[in-house]
Amino acid sequence: MLKEQIQVAAGHRVFGQGDHGDCAYLIETGRIEILHEEEEGTGERCVATLGVHDIFGELALLGEGVRSASARAVGDVRLTVLTRDFFAGCLQQTEPIMRHLLRTVAARLQRELDLPVENSLMAEVDQARAVMQIQLTRELNAALERSELSVALQPIVNLRGGTCVGFEALARWQSPRYGAIPPSRFVPLAEDSGLIGDLGRYILRRAVADAATLMAVVPDLYVSINVSPRQFADATLFPTLARALIEHALPARQVRLEVTESVLMRDMAITQEFFAAARELEVGVLIDDFGTGYSALAQLHRFQIDGVKLDRSFINGIDSDARVRAVVRAVSQLCGELGIHTIAEGVETREQADACLALNIEHAQGYLYSPGVPLAAASQWLRHQLSMAMPEPMVASLS
Ligand code: C2E
Ligand code: CA
Ligand code: CA
Repeated sequence: MLKEQIQVAAGHRVFGQGDHGDCAYLIETGRIEILHEEEEGTGERCVATLGVHDIFGELALLGEGVRSASARAVGDVRLTVLTRDFFAGCLQQTEPIMRHLLRTVAARLQRELDLPVENSLMAEVDQARAVMQIQLTRELNAALERSELSVALQPIVNLRGGTCVGFEALARWQSPRYGAIPPSRFVPLAEDSGLIGDLGRYILRRAVADAATLMAVVPDLYVSINVSPRQFADATLFPTLARALIEHALPARQVRLEVTESVLMRDMAITQEFFAAARELEVGVLIDDFGTGYSALAQLHRFQIDGVKLDRSFINGIDSDARVRAVVRAVSQLCGELGIHTIAEGVETREQADACLALNIEHAQGYLYSPGVPLAAASQWLRHQLSMAMPEPMVASLS
């Protein structure tokens, strides 16, 4: 969409005042003069001279597509054409509240410059979504203050033998006003609004407290807690965790922090700092959603990683697609050689579990075993597992 570049020779015009146009331009090399004529016949006046990386011609996108001034090359220039479709795509990817802000600023500009607004790029912006986003953010803030969020615990099992090795803590929000809101909705909201620090610390404390209760049933489990890359900037994250561990007498080695694969490809210094802090506290780190979109295989050896969680999209096809199996086999082999545990996510059928086992994946979680459930149900699930695995008197003495 952005492939078109044009050259304009010195003195030539890119467009003239009054022309129709539906694109803006980015200056790659050279300079552009913007010329404006107040009334026909009164002569042009240079109102701006623009240089490399400046954008011009954008007002036509806000109005009806009529150029309000002329643009002339000063020396030879090279320009990238920024089409209306390109901007529309960028706008769609922008967070709704920012889109709403842009729309408001654009509307004011349109009024002040008397631009006709029909067909304006900004007319495509969805105001309702922005308003919903603002209301939900406010609601989330209040929910955090009122401690309305909770944690669901999903068991992670050893594929060989089926015993429980740990639980993943998953954030849950039951809003009195909007009902149950999934984390795929409210976590990004928290990330965009700066609430992720508060949310992350809250879930961390709840997860450690719940883990301590579960470990009274089976001592040798771990709890896995999701950490957003945005929390890397939160200097209070590890001190909060350290305090919670002491408060609930939970050994640090029984905690794993889950970070997505993308962090291995980001700012090295920040990521290394996170891994160093985890190591210092002696908590483990798992790589979550492994295999989704980032080629982080080559980064695995750089960090001290305790486990890799293979994304659900792989497990989906593991029993039916030989190509998926080939990829999983390669990852599992590599992790085995690096001494990194592999955990299959989203195991829903016995066939998938068997296929994972055949590829030497050690641990799994998924609806086949249990969805994420509240603490009481997780505790009950654990006791039930124990009763299946152990002779009667042993279970009785544990309960
Ligand atoms: P995730 O970390 O990959 O968590 C696994 C998600 O898959 C969970 O969705 C879980 O309920 C779901 N799941 C588990 N087993 C199965 C299965 O067999 N089949 C299917 N179809 N799904 C399964 P959930 O709880 O809706 O969480 C979604 C995402 O939200 C999580 O993905 C994680 O990225 C994020 N998240 C959840 N809690 C937190 C949190 O406390 N902090 C942060 N930063 N992110 C969180
Ligand atoms: Ca996770
Ligand atoms: Ca995951």
